[in-house]
Amino acid sequence: MADEVVRRAPSRPCPVCGKPAAAALRPFCSERCRQVDLGRWLAGDYAIPAGPDPDGGEPDQG
Ligand SMILES: [Zn+2]
Repeated sequence: MADEVVRRAPSRPCPVCGKPAAAALRPFCSERCRQVDLGRWLAGDYAIPAGPDPDGGEPDQG
């Protein structure tokens, strides 16, 4: 008997752990995963395209 039922999640899975996202916490599955993702952002884990370098400024003298 081959009764394989593939259930598709109604929305995208949690980007942190891949579990089905919770309706109230989309796109995350839990508050914990939400914090994890937020922490990644704050840590600079995500690359931000097109952005001026705050460290490579020209000296404004005179
Ligand atoms: Zn998750």
